[in-house]
Amino acid sequence: MATISIQDIAKSFGAFQALKGISLEIADQEFLVLLGASGCGKSTLLRIVAGLEIADAGEIAVGDQRIDHLQAKDRGLAMVFQNYAVFPHLTVFENIAFGLRMQKCSQDLVDRKVREVAQMVHLEDLLQRYSGQLSGGQRQRVALARALAIEPSVMLMDEPLSNLDALLRLEMRAELKSILSRSQTTTCDARSGGGDEMSLADRIAVMHQGVIVQCDTPLEVYRNPVNTFVAGFIGSPPMNFVPAREISPGLYEARAMQLRGPPGHQQLTLGVRPEDLTPSESGLSCRVGVVEPLGPSTLVTEVQGEQIFRAALPSSSQVRPGDQLYLKPETDRIRWFDRQGQAVRV
Ligand code: ATP
Repeated sequence: MATISIQDIAKSFGAFQALKGISLEIADQEFLVLLGASGCGKSTLLRIVAGLEIADAGEIAVGDQRIDHLQAKDRGLAMVFQNYAVFPHLTVFENIAFGLRMQKCSQDLVDRKVREVAQMVHLEDLLQRYSGQLSGGQRQRVALARALAIEPSVMLMDEPLSNLDALLRLEMRAELKSILSRSQTTTCDARSGGGDEMSLADRIAVMHQGVIVQCDTPLEVYRNPVNTFVAGFIGSPPMNFVPAREISPGLYEARAMQLRGPPGHQQLTLGVRPEDLTPSESGLSCRVGVVEPLGPSTLVTEVQGEQIFRAALPSSSQVRPGDQLYLKPETDRIRWFDRQGQAVRV
């Protein structure tokens, strides 16, 4: 069973605490996305699991075996990291075959496996090319194919598709998920956002400044973020945050609308996602600034100083800059946050 158990991992670089006691259990065959802004500590955590960096404290186990004392090469993990270390003096074929040859697989098996994964990452026409002659995106795919060829039980990936164009990324993401689940691999995949953070993950662990702030299914993190950081980070366009003032116990006023909320807070922040707003006779007021037809919906935006307010309306909506709208939030989608930005349950 290739579960990954990470317990209380801490790491400092000089006086800077990059990881502040990270604990995470990844289930057998789970696809976990480690998500956070650049610099939050994702790569450091993955490098520690891989054995490329040594933690100051904490334990790591795969299955029931502690691995934190082992050298990287003895941990039995496959990895695809940002600097995609491919061997430039080897052909694409030999790069992909590398792990299989180390495992002393027969030539027939090597041939079959290399061609199978090369096809998956769209490199089948480049097998005889030297890797030093490839583009960044092609090299990234060689690194991915090499890791996938051995059907690893644990795969660590650090933005493995970051150098691919949008269309290829979309296609490969789905293929990647399918090959990983076929080979029953447990995967930890670091991503820094960009809109596709929810895709394919069984769970998302959101990291912020060296701490995991929330770990749950994509939908739960999306629907019930624990704080404004997570709420603003997940989802594109992000959740709207509207200051709300309590005018009588449990009744709040926000953007010319009165709404029921958790009583006993003079001031709260109302969170509502752009797609949960519908034009109505009354509701949250919005003076349309920018109108962007996106195809499936039309995004309207009001910018007032630091405050940005967005609504994703049906694409048939006839709205123009300068229009005054009233937008009714779907009641069960409204979220409330206190002054510290923590979610307040109703
Ligand atoms: P990105 O998405 O940009 O790769 P990340 O979330 O993976 O970011 P890390 O690379 O883990 O972030 O870095 C976490 C923090 O630790 C950053 O502030 C980084 O500058 C710092 N850091 C990482 N490695 C070192 C090092 N060897 N020496 C000093 N500081 C480091």
